[in-house]
Amino acid sequence: MKIRIIGGGPAGLYFAALMKRDTPSHDIVIYERNQRDATWGFGVVFSDRALDFLRADDDDLHRYLTPHMETWPNLTLAHNDTQIPIAGNGFAALGRLQMLELMYAYVEKLGIRIEFETEVASLEQVKDADLVVGANGAFSWIRAENEAKFGSSCEWRRNKFIWYGTSKVFDSLSLTFRETDLGVFCAHHYRYSPTMSTFLVEVEETTWKKAGFESMNVEDTIAHCETVFAKELDGHPIVSNNSYWRNFPAIWNQNWSFANVVLLGDALRTAHFSIGSGTRLAMEDSVALFKAFQEKGSDIKVALARFQELRLPPMSKIWDAANASLRWYEHMDGLVKTLSPVELAYSYMTRTGRVSHAEVKRRDPLLADAYAALHPEVASGA
Ligand SMILES: Cc1cc2nc3c(=O)[nH]c(=O)nc-3n(C[C@H](O)[C@H](O)[C@H](O)COP(=O)(O)OP(=O)(O)OC[C@H]3O[C@@H](n4cnc5c(N)ncnc54)[C@H](O)[C@@H]3O)c2cc1C
Repeated sequence: MKIRIIGGGPAGLYFAALMKRDTPSHDIVIYERNQRDATWGFGVVFSDRALDFLRADDDDLHRYLTPHMETWPNLTLAHNDTQIPIAGNGFAALGRLQMLELMYAYVEKLGIRIEFETEVASLEQVKDADLVVGANGAFSWIRAENEAKFGSSCEWRRNKFIWYGTSKVFDSLSLTFRETDLGVFCAHHYRYSPTMSTFLVEVEETTWKKAGFESMNVEDTIAHCETVFAKELDGHPIVSNNSYWRNFPAIWNQNWSFANVVLLGDALRTAHFSIGSGTRLAMEDSVALFKAFQEKGSDIKVALARFQELRLPPMSKIWDAANASLRWYEHMDGLVKTLSPVELAYSYMTRTGRVSHAEVKRRDPLLADAYAALHPEVASGA
């Protein structure tokens, strides 16, 4: 099969690897508009559950990637100066650039060509392909130009966030909420290498406006965030890498393919960063598309229909959880002001509606008991 993949992110790279590993005669080319060593962002995280899925699907890749990851068994949530460790939330992280470099090497070893610095701007450029994979990220033009065919929707969420890094290395995956005169600032921060951490700052829109971030320059924006999180940063600077305030686009598509064109990864659907699953979902899309071809052979239309059938149920569940999570952050000012540290940690744990009291108790009995002491009705199941 002649397969042309537009976008060399985790989704496109992994789908290419799966197909080629299974059938070396496939003719596969990945087009990536960036240079080989250019990427945005800092680290990405995988939950323990995400890594379990990867191990179950692909032990070879799991063994290849995990030695490069930083790992922690727990998460720490800070309500101003009070830190609440939350057990039973294992996470692993690695730099996005490092992950891509590892994946480039992995696919190239299989004999797949990656054409860097090659922007594909129209389907005409890949018209000879049997299968065209649109793995070109959240702002995919393939999706935008074919919205009616895909039944696409994009909802811009109201919180503002900015993705920074820092040289301060944190001991666990951490969420810090700091109340200021302008509103609550939240930092999602975690180590992704022995020398660097991701430091993502999120605020409600009203806080963002009151702070004047709309018209603030890069240096003053960093200085403001460094002041708010001075205790966490402990004298280390915030580092910018094409960092700017964004709103999160919640993207969905009713139809995942038309003719021989299929969407994969963020082009197909986005999942809010607060559940740390964007990369995992992109890679699981690749597994499902690969399995659909394994089942249906080279009948493209039938395989693409099977892809959606296989992948929709598990993906919808995580998408719903991601949207519940992003809505929780959209109320963080009220939550931080009205809840005690223990209540905030408990509310965080149960925010997606998928974690019951019994599950909190299984993961972290101390937190469950501390919460039940304040709210006896949860322990009695009332
Ligand atoms: C602020 C933020 C924080 C995040 N944090 C996490 C996290 O902690 N954990 C996690 O798992 N995920 C995280 N994510 C999400 C994660 O980065 C994405 O979900 C994941 O990278 C999706 O993979 P992808 O391959 O679909 O798309 P992408 O990684 O976006 O890759 C798409 C590729 O396509 C290329 N491309 C685009 N257009 C063209 C074109 N016309 N021609 C050729 N190439 C093109 C791009 O250059 C890019 O390399 C975060 C995202 C954001 C925005």
